[in-house]
Amino acid sequence: MKETRTQVVIVGAGPAGLLLGQLLQSAGVDNVVLERRSREYVEQRVRAGVIEYGVANLIDDAGAGERMRREGLVHHGVEFRFEHHAHRVALSELADGRAITVYGQQEVVKDLIALRLGAGAPLHFDAEVTVVDGLTSDAPFVDVEGADGTTRISCEYVAGCDGSFGVASRSIPTTLHRKYERTYPFSWLGILAEVPPSNEELVYCRHENGFALSSMRSPTLSRLYLGVEPNDTLDEWSDDRIWDELNVRLATEATPAINQGRVVERSITSMRSVVVAPMRHGRLFLAGDAAHIVPPTGAKGMNLALADVRVLAGALLAQLQRKDDTLLAAYSATCLERVWRAEEFSNYMTQMLHPNGDDDFENGVQLARLRQAVNSREASTVLARNYVDLNSL
Ligand SMILES: Cc1cc2nc3c(=O)[nH]c(=O)nc-3n(C[C@H](O)[C@H](O)[C@H](O)COP(=O)(O)OP(=O)(O)OC[C@H]3O[C@@H](n4cnc5c(N)ncnc54)[C@H](O)[C@@H]3O)c2cc1C
Repeated sequence: MKETRTQVVIVGAGPAGLLLGQLLQSAGVDNVVLERRSREYVEQRVRAGVIEYGVANLIDDAGAGERMRREGLVHHGVEFRFEHHAHRVALSELADGRAITVYGQQEVVKDLIALRLGAGAPLHFDAEVTVVDGLTSDAPFVDVEGADGTTRISCEYVAGCDGSFGVASRSIPTTLHRKYERTYPFSWLGILAEVPPSNEELVYCRHENGFALSSMRSPTLSRLYLGVEPNDTLDEWSDDRIWDELNVRLATEATPAINQGRVVERSITSMRSVVVAPMRHGRLFLAGDAAHIVPPTGAKGMNLALADVRVLAGALLAQLQRKDDTLLAAYSATCLERVWRAEEFSNYMTQMLHPNGDDDFENGVQLARLRQAVNSREASTVLARNYVDLNSL
């Protein structure tokens, strides 16, 4: 087996792993990013698209924001549709002028990869970490399987940025951490379509048939979602059926039909909330989806991941450069406070917007929450602040 050494091993080249690599690299800390998939795969993976105000600034500060600022769409409001009427929440007005940026996660990933490879920093694709060990000793290591066999990389710290079901969290003894979990009784069917968005701003819709979301990735690419049954498969949803259902759910008197175009990507995602605590085991630190999952209704997944990394980078730098352990010791507690706030907000948005079958009491409560969210300035303000910049609150 080949052997090598670095200061920090980062498992996973999603947004969390790549941004952590960039923050450490630019501060002069050696690190290696290991990704089990190919570069093409991670650059094409369509996922999140809403970037919070403070997280956009973080990407900028890391030197990866140039294209995001040029091509990203800045939104100052968001629309809620229910009972066949549209209600705008003026996000920026309610959140001290702050706004969200709509820019695809895969574009953030592309920008960070280009930056890293441009700087000549080590980033290995098709490199699967199979073992994470020695975490409670002074000599942690990972074993990685690549095209030229197995390599053992020794390090001072391991960052588990390998998403849900990753090897990092599995390497923590089950008796030493707890997993808090909720699975919702619906999934999201998402499509990416080559058609200009029907609305300038995102539209969250609660209809008797189910949830719908009309969003976008660019002026010519729409991203649309339908709430579907948890066991539904893509085979059951032809393009025609998807467009028909989107039209039914999103229709208002003012906008009876949405723009339709060629569907270039479709997927079904189950809706889960997960928190792993603590987010640390010895010299292993979990960040992003490796430590928590939120249902996408609050648009928090990628934002939470990047906010973890901001905390982790600062803590690792304090320890590696100044031998100051304080921030690393506080890492899990610092992140979990914010993570639970995001779980609460994501749960609130999810529960409010997905009708609950024949449970008319629950449906009445949901509509009351929605009416309050759009009609009460206090309620709209809380929603706007959480939506626009929860991770900086
Ligand atoms: C289908 C889907 C749709 C989503 N849609 C939205 C959305 O609309 N809005 C929203 O806010 N959030 C959404 N999310 C959530 C959001 O995309 C995630 O929160 C975000 O990707 C978290 O980033 P991350 O870097 O922590 O993890 P990831 O992006 O999952 O990156 C982890 C990386 O680790 C790699 N990896 C895993 N195991 C290993 C290993 N053993 N060795 C090496 N590499 C490994 C993986 O291949 C992956 O590239 C969605 C998630 C999914 C799965």
